[in-house]
Amino acid sequence: MTKRIDFSKYSSIKVGPTLDVKLIDNCDEIAPTDYILGSASNVLIGDTPPPLALLSKKFDFIEYDGQTLTVGAATPSGKIVSFCKKHDIAGFEFLSHLPGKLGGLIKMNAGLKEYEIFNDLLSLTTCKGEQPKDAIDFGYRYTCIDGVVLQATFSAQKGFDIQKVEMFRKMRSNQPKEPSAGSCFKNPPGDYAGRLIEAVGLKGKRKGGMGWSEIHANFLVNYGGGTFQEALFLIEEAERKVLRKFNISLEREIIVLQQ
Ligand SMILES: Cc1cc2nc3c(=O)[nH]c(=O)nc-3n(C[C@H](O)[C@H](O)[C@H](O)COP(=O)(O)OP(=O)(O)OC[C@H]3O[C@@H](n4cnc5c(N)ncnc54)[C@H](O)[C@@H]3O)c2cc1C
Repeated sequence: MTKRIDFSKYSSIKVGPTLDVKLIDNCDEIAPTDYILGSASNVLIGDTPPPLALLSKKFDFIEYDGQTLTVGAATPSGKIVSFCKKHDIAGFEFLSHLPGKLGGLIKMNAGLKEYEIFNDLLSLTTCKGEQPKDAIDFGYRYTCIDGVVLQATFSAQKGFDIQKVEMFRKMRSNQPKEPSAGSCFKNPPGDYAGRLIEAVGLKGKRKGGMGWSEIHANFLVNYGGGTFQEALFLIEEAERKVLRKFNISLEREIIVLQQ
């Protein structure tokens, strides 16, 4: 089955074409060339991306046995937080303002400061079977997961902390309100990508409808009608200028999907 999706509406940065996307119910429907997406909050989609696929509603579920939480990969972050609040489960408060579906959150090891989705992870299941956490190499916004994540199991301690939700909300208050994909580059060791972008004079720089935010230089934002080409121009310009001035190769956090 396919679903027609307008990525200029679906993706968080509001850039991309309208395409037929494969809806996956079972592993045998996934072709080796298929690129799996969650809620497209960390991607920049060009006019000719690889064939795109989404997990169906079948993977939008949460199971709780009092000690562990098993979450389907198509479950949105907000639903996980609501479930944890209702069942008084600790450790997932940081997802309250972090967009994504569980599969994307796991693949990116999404997080905020020391709070990361891998912290309470016990195991995950891909089409190749279940893997314990210690079989997976992971780090800051990085995992070595090969294949499509179907679900993941976490240890679930008692004690949802509403004060942490408020703390995470405040941590977000310096983020731009315009559509974006979150941070565009990873922070290099001991430095901040935003500082480097500002230091090469690009904070606030616009190209058409896209621009580096005036509030937070590492956010590439869409002021309205921004295109893939404008976004890519700004990304490549920042990479070039930071390399020239600081001899630092910025590593992209945003995933550019263009063949
Ligand atoms: C306003 C804003 C703020 C943000 N703040 C943060 C933040 O504080 N911290 C942070 O870490 N991120 C942040 N992000 C980025 C984003 O929320 C995360 O990267 C999130 O994990 C993306 O999830 P997604 O479902 O949207 O994944 P997508 O963007 O759809 O995909 C991202 C990657 O995950 C892979 N993927 C998706 N589903 C699966 C699956 N089932 N199996 C295997 N791989 C899969 C994709 O192939 C792709 O490589 C922010 C984004 C926005 C828009």
